Amino acid sequence: MYYSINEIFQTIQGEGYYTGTPSIFIRIQGCAVHCKWCDTKYTWSCIHNNKIPFQELMKKKISNNKWSYMNVKEIILNIKEKKWKAKHVVITGGEPCIYNLRSLTNKLEKQGFTCQIETSGTQLLDCSFNTWVTLSPKKHKTTLYTSIIRANEIKFPVLQEQDLLYLEIILSILKHRKTCHIFLQPISQNPESLKICMKICTVKNWRLSIQTHKYLLIR
Ligand code: SF4
Repeated sequence: MYYSINEIFQTIQGEGYYTGTPSIFIRIQGCAVHCKWCDTKYTWSCIHNNKIPFQELMKKKISNNKWSYMNVKEIILNIKEKKWKAKHVVITGGEPCIYNLRSLTNKLEKQGFTCQIETSGTQLLDCSFNTWVTLSPKKHKTTLYTSIIRANEIKFPVLQEQDLLYLEIILSILKHRKTCHIFLQPISQNPESLKICMKICTVKNWRLSIQTHKYLLIR
């Protein structure tokens, strides 16, 4: 199977449960969710004229709308050639679940990596049993029940307080689970949203996720 890939790079995970963890990011090209505040809009479409050879993609130093098709073997070989030290792989997007990720995550685990998927939960999720699933529900698109019950963490984007009504619906489905970590994440470093997140996290004993990579000015 070939995946449309926007970029593969090593960095520090800036958000959610794995914040601070050296990680290899595999960013999938393609997303139909179209959040207004999306900070990776360049991943939404696979425009033919923006397709580049994967050898070129592996040299990318900046994020842009160039993308390439790669299969599992090519992805793993190219990661190994880089000799990166990170052993954690974050499959993100775009929306990674436009693809079946079982084979990719299984094979990465066989190579000694741990895997994490960051998904909006709007597409069927298929991955290895051990993959850590970060669900980031978007209130303007239905979150699939199967993604909610598979989530290891919920990283919920907050602009205003009423956004939390959608999180309450999601949590009512998870009410018997004690192991799902809940993070509130202010959208686009908005100071008002940050205040709301801090207030609600304190009241509910949830955790705050603040996109540290944006403060550190790293990818
Ligand atoms: S789901 Fe993610 S990649 Fe897609 S539009 Fe929303 S924020 Fe952007």
